[in-house]
Amino acid sequence: MLETTPSPQSEASPQPQAAEILARLGIEPVNSGAHGVDWIAQPGGELLDSINPATGASLAAVRLAMEEDYDEVTYQTAKLFEKWRMFPAPKRGLIVREIGDELRKAKEDLGALVSLEAGKILAEGRGEVQEMIDIADFAVGLSRQLYGLTMHSERPAHRMYEQWHPLGMVGVITAFNFPVAVWAWNAMIAAVCGNTVLWKPSLKTPLTAIAVQHLVNRVLDRHGWRGVFSLIIGTDSQVSQRLLEDRRIPLVSATGSCQMGQHVAQWVGARFGRTILELGGNNGVIIMPDADLELALRAVLFGAVGTAGQRCTTIRRLFLHRSIAETFTKRLIEAYRQVRIGDPLNPSTLMGPLIDERAVTRMMQALALIESGGGEILYGGKRLDRPGYFVEPAIVRAHPQMKILREEIFAPILYVLEFDTLDEAIEWHNNVPQGLSSAIFTRDLIAAETFLSHRGSDCGIANVNLGTSGAEIGGAFGGEKDTGGGREAGSDSWKAYMRRQTVTINWSSELPLAQGIRFEL
Ligand code: NAD
Repeated sequence: MLETTPSPQSEASPQPQAAEILARLGIEPVNSGAHGVDWIAQPGGELLDSINPATGASLAAVRLAMEEDYDEVTYQTAKLFEKWRMFPAPKRGLIVREIGDELRKAKEDLGALVSLEAGKILAEGRGEVQEMIDIADFAVGLSRQLYGLTMHSERPAHRMYEQWHPLGMVGVITAFNFPVAVWAWNAMIAAVCGNTVLWKPSLKTPLTAIAVQHLVNRVLDRHGWRGVFSLIIGTDSQVSQRLLEDRRIPLVSATGSCQMGQHVAQWVGARFGRTILELGGNNGVIIMPDADLELALRAVLFGAVGTAGQRCTTIRRLFLHRSIAETFTKRLIEAYRQVRIGDPLNPSTLMGPLIDERAVTRMMQALALIESGGGEILYGGKRLDRPGYFVEPAIVRAHPQMKILREEIFAPILYVLEFDTLDEAIEWHNNVPQGLSSAIFTRDLIAAETFLSHRGSDCGIANVNLGTSGAEIGGAFGGEKDTGGGREAGSDSWKAYMRRQTVTINWSSELPLAQGIRFEL
């Protein structure tokens, strides 16, 4: 049984306990961190506490998987691939459709569990589940559209085309800040493509992963496909590393810090495995003098403070044209003052806690470095005197030479810089190792198009008159440079989950060679 410990009630509203939410979801609690075709009753690892970041108290304890559990789970998941790939893609799509329906029913409660365990506000917790539903819908349609091209052959009576085959067992490593949506982005697409999926979630959010596995099992059980989606919760040294080295896993999709991505790329690359890397961002917004400043203000507030600055797409650098810098900064500080910080499950809260003590320490260290490096804290940046990991969001006046601007500090610190020309702003904007998301606010066509051109933003995502976060699933999501180059979700991202085969059929009784080569006795 899931071992739950009551967390202290926050002053804003009583926090529903994880056990209550799980009960409402109809989930028979299991505290195992390993699931292949069924839960492994007693995995070999230690008990890991899932911590509520709003209180610092334990929500539940999960038994971690060890190497032998990994071997059992992956043996089953790899074996099931042989059957799953033979099940027609549109039928795989129907299974995914039912998963989407199960998530629709669970949206309120699973969203609340995400809030409880990851600390994001309720609207964002539910939004995350909505994202899972959206990608399931997308994948259902995709299951009938795994198209290849046909080509005209240069040889007579020859036909050429390409077709797409599934890869095998796909490994999915996820970060704490999108504890369920990122799994769905990968798993729903990978599954309609004919792959089985092994999930290694963040150790900071094991409960939501277990809950998702339960919900998905309901659908799989109805159709005899239990095990197509499997779960392994273990440490990076005991479990993740094994996954990276496992030659039965042709593709590892990994979401997390750039440092983690570098490690994953090296190990998976060394065995010629493929990766989809979705790594850290350091997102900038340029505000031109002609911008709709009301609109920009609202977008910057959500983009910089939302999810307590813990989104890969969080706005971290704000480039303000000198003519509007002072007024805009003043108004931004006013808006920051009104942000209601507190219990993420209280519907009126706008900003919840950071994920853990380490994140708070890292933010405080960064602010100290910023001050010693010539930056000026214009607003916030203090830890709140209450249980849990709450901080005030900070606005900092920065100058482009500050080294810390190149790093992703996973906390709500917004750097404000003033520029004179768009070229200067673009140069500073691009002068960081990461390249995930970017935006410009302007009503000037030339400025917007310059920003979107090849000499503009160097990021995977570029927006005009909206912020950097909150992408829709229909587009391909991902970033350039140290963000890893991976693309997930919509557009043709599905191709990364399949292997392309080029086929040529000779329907004549001659054997002409390409390039006109003659080779005859
Ligand atoms: P993290 O790098 O600490 O961990 C992410 C995942 O990688 C976890 O499951 C962790 O267990 C695993 N991991 C860590 N080191 C590993 C190793 N050496 N080998 C194998 N696995 C390893 O990141 P986090 O703190 O959970 O998440 C925040 C980071 O994720 C930020 O940098 C954020 O920008 C990034 N992120 C990126 C995207 C994106 O789509 N680009 C989305 C969400 C989060």
